[in-house]
Amino acid sequence: MAVQVVKPRIRGFICTNAHPVGCDQNVRDQIDHIKSVGSPKSTNLNALVLGASTGYGLASRVALTWLYGAKSIGVYYERPADGKRTATAGYYNSYALRKLAQADGFFASDVNGDAFSDDLKQETIDRIKQELGKIDVLVYSLASPRRYHPRTGAEHQSVLKPIGEPFRGKTVDLTREVITDVLIEPATEIEVEDTVAVMGGEDLEMWTEALLSEDLLATESTVVAYTYIGHELTWPIYRDGTIGKAKEDLEARINALDAKLSSALGGHAYLSVNKAVITQASSAIPVVPLYISVLYDIMNAQGINEDPIGQMGRLFSEHLGSGLTPVLDADRRLRLDDRELRADVVAEVARRWEEVNTENYLDLSDYAGFKRGFRNLFGFDVDGVDYDEPVQIELV
Ligand code: NAD
Repeated sequence: MAVQVVKPRIRGFICTNAHPVGCDQNVRDQIDHIKSVGSPKSTNLNALVLGASTGYGLASRVALTWLYGAKSIGVYYERPADGKRTATAGYYNSYALRKLAQADGFFASDVNGDAFSDDLKQETIDRIKQELGKIDVLVYSLASPRRYHPRTGAEHQSVLKPIGEPFRGKTVDLTREVITDVLIEPATEIEVEDTVAVMGGEDLEMWTEALLSEDLLATESTVVAYTYIGHELTWPIYRDGTIGKAKEDLEARINALDAKLSSALGGHAYLSVNKAVITQASSAIPVVPLYISVLYDIMNAQGINEDPIGQMGRLFSEHLGSGLTPVLDADRRLRLDDRELRADVVAEVARRWEEVNTENYLDLSDYAGFKRGFRNLFGFDVDGVDYDEPVQIELV
């Protein structure tokens, strides 16, 4: 049994370990938030959540379980503990979720492996047949730096680069804690294609085809995937960059899938535009950690900030779920980024962005909050956890 005191090992936007008790507490806090949104309705909902261990996927699963009593299978790619090395945060989060779901009388089981592969899709399908029956809600929340294509065997690496022209912008150097200018050269055509292959919609299409061919999507089933639009100062690197191209591909495939599901099953596929939040994926994007620090300071002061569970609580209590009618924009998208894109918030972010530099960033942004939020992702700095206490790191 591996029992040890776990202290954070962080460099820049990388944290190489995680705290099991802190992760457990994070999941409990998410459940508490959802319980404050509403008491669980008794439904027979079955949910498949792809990318279920952290960020928006984890929050979606918590919301579906504790709002609807959904039976869920969560798919993710996480490392268990190995000797003295802790598991990843997503592994501990998922362990906690299963345990807490069971304690509250809900069914939750997991498939850990590469969701892009045919083998894992087949394993998941077998588990759905054994454990759930047909899927009512499919959440697609994968965020990955690479994909091994199941048909060609090619390895595609996703990059966060502008397209056409170099991008120069402000960013916070998370290691040296200074505001610097970052210059990012434009992506090559191959890099754009690779990013689309990883973060576009082809894999979601493969999942839905596999489920449809096994007749595992229920009548009136719902598919939802996530995207980001954000403030225009992030556009060169996000919306107009390689990741934006991938999201365009995802959106086109979601709309095609919606037509297919609607005629075959009376179902729907949606893209939800979510707000910027601190996750492992977003912390790695240049510009975004500084943008989030400024944004959170402004939104917190107005009492309108949300983390993934706040967003997913809203998604599954106001738009998607039994008896709900989603409110869509002119392009058929759900907009959970409404508060981030409120005119006064956008203007204040732009004003501060002009001014922010190494001397004033601690006043003009909630960088301390960003840092804490980042450490929280790995179970560190979580209220109520005694970090001097040795803990069991091997959880199975
Ligand atoms: P995240 O890094 O917190 O979670 C990614 C999930 O994908 C994890 O569960 C991980 O285990 C899983 N995963 C990665 N590779 C996998 C693989 N090969 N096989 C199986 N599982 C794998 O990410 P996130 O920030 O919550 O992003 C989720 C979605 O939300 C993405 O589509 C992202 O673009 C979108 N989004 C994020 C933000 C943001 O600010 N973070 C904002 C709007 C939209």
